Amino acid sequence: MARILDGKALASQVRQNLKERVAEGIQVGLPQPGLATVLVGDDPASHVYVKFKRRACDEVGFQNFHIELPADTTQGELLSKIDELNTNPEVHGILVQLPLPKGLDEAAVLQAVSPLKDADGFHPMNQGALMQGKQSLRPCTPLGIMSLIEASGVDLNGKKAVVVGRSNIVGKPIALMLLEKHATVSICHSRTADLAAEVRAADVLIAAVGRAHLVQGQWIKEGAVVIDVGINRLEDGSLTGDVDFEKASERASWITPVPGGVGPMTIAMLLSNTLDAAWGNK
Ligand code: NAD
Repeated sequence: MARILDGKALASQVRQNLKERVAEGIQVGLPQPGLATVLVGDDPASHVYVKFKRRACDEVGFQNFHIELPADTTQGELLSKIDELNTNPEVHGILVQLPLPKGLDEAAVLQAVSPLKDADGFHPMNQGALMQGKQSLRPCTPLGIMSLIEASGVDLNGKKAVVVGRSNIVGKPIALMLLEKHATVSICHSRTADLAAEVRAADVLIAAVGRAHLVQGQWIKEGAVVIDVGINRLEDGSLTGDVDFEKASERASWITPVPGGVGPMTIAMLLSNTLDAAWGNK
């Protein structure tokens, strides 16, 4: 029976540690870290995510600058807000909540955020640095996944890792981070010919698709580490992941629950990135 990789508990430890560092840093004259949250439109899920992020900011003692704009905001208006945040010295991290309403050019908006304030790690410069294995602000969900794997104590060196999903925010960056830790990595996607066979080979499985229970329990290799990134809402309103948790738990050595696995770690890493953006390595 798998042990639970408890993202809620680990994220709480990370936040506690950040809170202590912030209090100590401010005492010795470092600036209070500031995170700007930019929310455009009225997507209900986005409102919930931003609420959690703002609450986490307060908890660790960051300043939060919150910008809320209507769904009919133009590209120019949004870019000029981002420009203001880029030049505001009290703002160290900028998060633009995705998805943006139709008509806004997401790629151009992400590129407009200063790479030095790119708390989400989505700027092409930061993504390029990750590809080259250089220090940079890295995407939060993959950072959270790496912390969870580290907490399991499993050494990735030489292990076979399978990533299901190839998005720029999860699939591709997590594949690069696993590679950096010397795993042998496969990336699967919607055109993969035999997903079950790929998953069966995985010592470490990362599922980041967004389809409830796409990954069947019997596909999981005995003793595998299973990280479920997917967030899917069922008809009864409950949340579930991309992996059939009950059956997979019978075979995996470690598994993340949904909710309470990767989600809380994503927010903790957003805070951690903001602190790095504010203070560098101080
Ligand atoms: P996305 O929609 O950008 O990408 C989904 C990927 O899944 C694509 O690369 C696609 O090729 C692949 N895919 C689709 N159908 C497939 C199939 N049948 N077999 C194999 N691969 C298939 O998704 P994303 O933004 O990476 O998010 C993925 C999931 O993770 C979503 O449920 C999202 O809500 C969740 N998510 C959670 C967090 C968190 O903090 N927990 C953060 C980001 C995303």
